Formats: sequence, structure tokens, C-alpha cells
Amino acid sequence: NRRVILKRYVTGLPSEDDMEVVTAKTTLAVPAGSEAVMVKNLYVSCDPYMRGRMTRHEVPSYVPDYVPGEVITNCGVMKVVSSGHPDFKDGDLVWGVTGWEEYTLVNNPKPYLHKINYPEFPLSYYTGVLGIAGLTAYGGFFEVSKPKKGDYVFVSAASGAVGQIVGQLAKITGCYVVGSAGSDEKVKLLKTKFGFHDAFNYKKELDLEGALKRCFPDGIDIYFDNVGGAMLDAVLPNMRIGGKITICGMISQYNLERPDGVRNLFYLFAKSLRMEGFLVSNYIAIYHRYEKEMAGYLREGKVVYVEDIVEGLEAAPAALIGLFTGRNVGKQLVTIARE
Ligand code: NDP
Repeated sequence: NRRVILKRYVTGLPSEDDMEVVTAKTTLAVPAGSEAVMVKNLYVSCDPYMRGRMTRHEVPSYVPDYVPGEVITNCGVMKVVSSGHPDFKDGDLVWGVTGWEEYTLVNNPKPYLHKINYPEFPLSYYTGVLGIAGLTAYGGFFEVSKPKKGDYVFVSAASGAVGQIVGQLAKITGCYVVGSAGSDEKVKLLKTKFGFHDAFNYKKELDLEGALKRCFPDGIDIYFDNVGGAMLDAVLPNMRIGGKITICGMISQYNLERPDGVRNLFYLFAKSLRMEGFLVSNYIAIYHRYEKEMAGYLREGKVVYVEDIVEGLEAAPAALIGLFTGRNVGKQLVTIARE
């Protein structure tokens, strides 16, 4: 059973050498009498929050730290190869928490495994648009941002897994939506493929505040923040009175030993703003409603979806690190096996 392990705790930007592909002995049978499920991993997701799990925390974080020497875990799409649980049988296609390895014994199939209800879509979609990234976009945008038709919406890391879906949900709601991304290729994707009204390459803008002023002469009602740091700082003075900032993530901060200071918090009271964060786990209860709704949008072509797929466990560490340099175009995932 080939698997990717964390070799050591990480400081700063992770390197490929912080992870290693090793071979471990695994028995494919489920232990007698247990309700565990053995799965063959088909696709696994690369997500920015995994960086946090590579640091040892003195005070426990919202997800457990990875342990050096042990397999890296995250969400994936899997096929059941043997099952001790009455709800799962051999051959079932599922998505949920698994390992970066060929086969994983899932000890708690409930609540960690979900049946794949719409096999008409590429199975890999369950690592993203029909899985965690999609639910993050949906829960964060509708339950936290609470958009209204006509709102001016700004999304950062807009071409990524979460950002591309937020932008399209904003359009479906009748909002005016602008995205920022880190390359001209991504900006083009935002405008031509995902239908953002406008977009800009933040790496080419010397003055982020000015770029936002140009895109939103009347100000921003909703900022869906995926990056934090300098962009958040530039957004604050561009918000409209009573606007809402939804903190989904702060990827610009994850590799820093000391977070960047945000200087413009003054505007929170000066413009009567609200800023609210959330975790996707808050919305697991609405997942099935989401899955059905999103399957409809995908079928009707109201949402299009871009993935960045690399092949094989050996490619997984570099793909994960690439999230922090913007190498990925769309949702980053890894194929381990096809069937
Ligand atoms: P993406 O697919 O958007 O990939 C990450 C992207 O972030 C990169 O492609 C890059 O795009 C951008 N980026 C990297 N470093 C920086 C930087 N220093 N400054 C600005 N942008 C940067 O990832 P996801 O869609 O999976 O995640 C997006 C955000 O959502 C992350 O902050 C993540 O932690 C958060 N998240 C939060 C969840 C929750 O429960 N709250 C759940 C899932 C995700 P570019 O080329 O445009 O710079």
C-alpha cells in the first residue's frame, strides 16, 4: 500500500521533502466484528487548510495536527472493497475522509463516508464542487454573506475551488461580481468561463485599494475573503456602509510565522460593517440539499467547473505546495486510481 506521509513538522512554505511516498503493509480485509470499511482511493483533494495540520500546535486547532511518520489524510473519492458496516457494500462509490494512499481502512464510516448520489458527473467532482469546496462556497455565501439581488460582490482567489463557485452562485443570485486572481490566464478564465462581470490580476496591481475602487466605484456590499492580509486591508475602505465581510480563509497567512497586520479595521465601525467567519463543518447538515441543487446547476450549465488534476501519489506533495504559489488553475486534486 503506497502512501504519502508527513516526514516532519513544517515551518514556512512546505517543501516536497517534508513529505515522502513510502510502502506499508495493509490487509485488505476488514477486522472481524468491526463496522469499519476498507476503501480503494480513486481521487484525493489538495486543500490549503492541510498546511495548518503540518504544524505542531501547543493549543489544539480546529482539526488535529498530522503526525510525522503517519499518512496524510483529507477528503477523497473512494470505492468500497470490503465492509463491516450494514450501510456500505463492496463496489459502492463514496466520498469522505480518507488517506493519501492506495487503500484506507475507515474506522468510522458514519459520519465520515457519504454515498455518491449523482454518478452521472465525473467522480472527481466529489473532491470539490459536489463535496467540501462546493459546500464551503454555498454555506459561506448563502448562510453568512446572505446576498441580495443587485449586491456588489468581490471574491478573492476567485478562480480556485471555492472562489469559482462563489462567483457563479453570486451571478445566479443576480449580484454584480468581481474576482481577483494571480495570473492573466486566471483572470481570463474568470471573465470568459465563469462569467464574472470583471476581474483583475492582483499581482500586477501596485495599488490594490485603487484597483478595487476602479472595479467598484460605488463600493462593495459583500467581500468573500479567501486570502486575508493585504487584500483584506485594501477591501475595508472600499466597503459600502453596512457591508458584510465573510471570512472563508486567509491563505496569504498560512505560511507566515507572524501574521501580516491588517491596518484598516477602523472601517469596521466607521462603515458599520460586519465581519464573520465560518467553517464548512457548520453546514454538513445541509449537504444533501446542496448536492441536489448543485447537481441541477451543473446539469443545466448554470455552473461550470474547472479542475487541475495531477496523476499519482508521487505528484501529490508538489500539487499541495502549488496551492501556495498559485500553480493550480481551478480545483487541485490527485488521481490515485481510476476504478
Ligand atoms: P484554491 O483552489 O483557491 O487554491 C488556492 C489559491 O490561493 C491559489 O491558487 C492562489 O491563487 C491563491 N493564493 C495562494 N497564496 C496566496 C497569497 N499569498 N495571496 C493571495 N492569494 C494566494 O483553494 P480553495 O478554493 O480550496 O481554498 C480557498 C480558501 O478557502 C482558502 O483560504 C481555504 O483555506 C479556504 N477554505 C475554507 C474553508 C472553511 O471551512 N472555512 C473550507 C475550504 C476552504 P492565485 O493565483 O489567484 O493567487
